Amino acid sequence: MPPKPRILIAEDESGIADTLQYVLRSDGFEPVWCATAEDTIKSFAAEPPALAILDVGLPDLNGFELFKRLQGITRAAGGVEVPMIFLTARSDEIDRVVGLELGADDYVAKPFSPRELVARVRTVLRRSGRAQAPVAAPVAVAAPTPAPQPFVLDAERMQIRYYGRVLDLSRYEYGLLRLMVQRPGRVFTRDELLQLVWDDASESFDRTVDAHIKTLRAKLKAIAPEVEPIRTLRGTGYALNEELPSVRE
Ligand code: CA
Repeated sequence: MPPKPRILIAEDESGIADTLQYVLRSDGFEPVWCATAEDTIKSFAAEPPALAILDVGLPDLNGFELFKRLQGITRAAGGVEVPMIFLTARSDEIDRVVGLELGADDYVAKPFSPRELVARVRTVLRRSGRAQAPVAAPVAVAAPTPAPQPFVLDAERMQIRYYGRVLDLSRYEYGLLRLMVQRPGRVFTRDELLQLVWDDASESFDRTVDAHIKTLRAKLKAIAPEVEPIRTLRGTGYALNEELPSVRE
């Protein structure tokens, strides 16, 4: 059996750390908890984990500083970069992470659902190709062939098919959905969506994004009424649901 991927958790609130350790362990990971940045640095240097989850608000060093220190350790050792996910509580922190100035792999806003976080850990590990994420229990004996996904992006034609039907989308609806389809599960803030999809973001507003998401949802609903592919993260933004029913054949 392959060793369980070690997930290093830097979090000073023991309640959150306990929950995280519990869900990670039950999903086949080996969590290692550190309550301070100092301990995190020691643990990381002694044995680099498969992935690190860093709380931005740590008592001795903020998560961004810690992130840079850990990256420095990896570089000095000539090792493979360890993917990292930030835990943030404030929206200005989210803005910094999303600015990608740091190059973190992802972030999760508090309060978060532990299930969502574990799903994010899996996605980041898969994307980084760094460590094999354990198969979620219950384990299917014979791995089924992956089912066809509901969204098919045809960038050349600027079209998106949804459950086999071509969506009739406006330019902005297409831009929004394309971003989310390319990175299922990734949370996009309204600000980010404005920057990435609109030509002149300064002339647009958060509610512009909301309005287009609304019409987009209506078009998706017309094709599959029982499916809700776009998740709203209150006060933050939107993400494509990673757990969509696959195409029935
Ligand atoms: Ca904290």
